Amino acid sequence: MKIQLPLWLALLFLSCASVAQTAAPEAPAASTAQQPAQPAVSQDAPPTETPTLPTATQGTAGKLEPPQRAEDFKFTKIDLELLKQANDLDAYLQEKGWAYHDAETNAYLEKLGSSLVPAQTPENVVWRFRVVRDLEVNAFALPNGSIYVNSGLLARMENEAQVAGVLAHEITHVVNRHSYLENRSKRKKMVAVNIIVAVGSVNSGIVGAMSSLLSMIVVSTIFGYSRELEHEADVYAVNTLQLQGYDLREFSRGFELLRKGPEVDLSKEPVFWANHPKLADRVQYVSTMAAQLQGNATSLRVGEGPYRAATKSVIRHNAGLALMLGRPRTAAATAQRLIAEEPNNADNFALLGDAYRSLGPRLPVPDDEELTDHAKNEARKRIQKMTLVEYDKALLADTHGVERWEANAGRSEDAYRRALEMDPNNAPSHRGLGFLYERQDRRTPAAEEFKKYLELAPAAKDARQVKLHLESMENAVPGIGATPAGTPANKP
Ligand SMILES: [Zn+2]
Repeated sequence: MKIQLPLWLALLFLSCASVAQTAAPEAPAASTAQQPAQPAVSQDAPPTETPTLPTATQGTAGKLEPPQRAEDFKFTKIDLELLKQANDLDAYLQEKGWAYHDAETNAYLEKLGSSLVPAQTPENVVWRFRVVRDLEVNAFALPNGSIYVNSGLLARMENEAQVAGVLAHEITHVVNRHSYLENRSKRKKMVAVNIIVAVGSVNSGIVGAMSSLLSMIVVSTIFGYSRELEHEADVYAVNTLQLQGYDLREFSRGFELLRKGPEVDLSKEPVFWANHPKLADRVQYVSTMAAQLQGNATSLRVGEGPYRAATKSVIRHNAGLALMLGRPRTAAATAQRLIAEEPNNADNFALLGDAYRSLGPRLPVPDDEELTDHAKNEARKRIQKMTLVEYDKALLADTHGVERWEANAGRSEDAYRRALEMDPNNAPSHRGLGFLYERQDRRTPAAEEFKKYLELAPAAKDARQVKLHLESMENAVPGIGATPAGTPANKP
């Protein structure tokens, strides 16, 4: 199934004000994430000296006071227009279903975020902490106080201290009015025009749709901020984490995790990160501060258990998105993580079965050859030209491809069987086995598995789809080996 991401939103999610490290899928994905020509944004000179640490001072109850710049900020008409756009964008993300809703995850994130904000809430800010259903490892803040963390980021992070670092960084963009300051800059407005032109050259149809939304607010979020402001956000985050007793080494480790995904990273030097501090510099800065501030500290907060408990459902949801969007390696890695945490949960094994089945003729983790520059260039070309199905076929034309598919099919069946040993009525495993057997041309057992699935989960969201698929299989029979007329989206 193709999920059409509005281009502006794809761009928004592709970059991050703080932390993005995009990994293209190893096969064509459904995103429209073509990047426009490089706009002229790399003119900010890097800061010539490291800003001094205390941009914020300690206030009451372990909270940081907002820095001077934020206190002096006076709203003008143009700022209020931006504020309205932020509120509109919030509404849009809610209405269009981008926001992820799960009571436990939302409550956890709200509580964590609220513990990191300054004592005094800045004017025209209402703090909200939400999850966006998006695979990219990313987070962003709107100037009205809405902070969004992508499900892809939550799935990559390991503990509360790491996510607290991300949230504190984004909170700084809000408190220090970074969006407003950038919005007031004429040069940045030129950048916005450039983007609109560049995006227009990719897909003019989208421009009309986003004309009311592609505003400075999106632009700031797309481009991130100047190197100086990004550093300021890291400095403030370090101070906040230190005050709250979080282990700063975890903040640093969180940065490292951003660039270590299971997919082949096909992004070249990210266009929009031209003037961002390199990730390595940020790791270095936070590590240095950790040694300086917490060198002898004991009992620092990491919060692994509570984090994992509160984010299980969103992480599973993210794995489902990965399957839909052609990133089975991400799904497999996530399933392994969930199994390590809950080895007796049948759903986790069903997910692993789905991931291996969806890997088709691909290796579960990339080999050295896939990581060469040549292979990456070839993969970039394929992404432009082929659909996921075409790509699978091309790989299967190769002997290695056939061997890999057979190995993945075996692992997939094993995982489903493990799930059914734990719970014979585990519906997703029956559905998965149905698709697996069908792909192996084992039509009769495939039909039986689909029937079991429909018996066990008659109200499932995809029940109707599976039912139609089963009917088309049965109509194509008698005669094992007949080709079904329709294929549901989650068949690899
Ligand atoms: Zn940032």
